[in-house]
Amino acid sequence: MHSFHRLLFAIILALQHLNKILYYIYFLGKTNDTECTLMSEFQYEGECHGCFMIKKVNHIPFCESCNSKMKRDLVRQRSYDYSELTAHLSSKEAKENVRKNIISMHGPKLEIVIDEKYEPSN
Ligand SMILES: [Zn+2]
Repeated sequence: MHSFHRLLFAIILALQHLNKILYYIYFLGKTNDTECTLMSEFQYEGECHGCFMIKKVNHIPFCESCNSKMKRDLVRQRSYDYSELTAHLSSKEAKENVRKNIISMHGPKLEIVIDEKYEPSN
């Protein structure tokens, strides 16, 4: 990106969220175009939509703990393509194994997703 465009982009971000601009300036001084990949997913302070506490949240916004719960819930519901825990797996068997592990470690009940059709026993 051209440095002038960078500046314009920074001003737009500043108008939207002051937190974002602070991070942008911080990473601008350190890197070139890779700042986005170096940033943590959970960089902005905000109210988590899962636990309603003020924490570092991602774009959803969920805190790290609620985001993990959501990833596990997606696997419980067999939405394998939408969970980071299973999206990279190609075989159905590997995905089912991840689901089995999650259920044995964290139980079959959904932790954060509300789905009335989901049966915890299946
Ligand atoms: Zn949370």
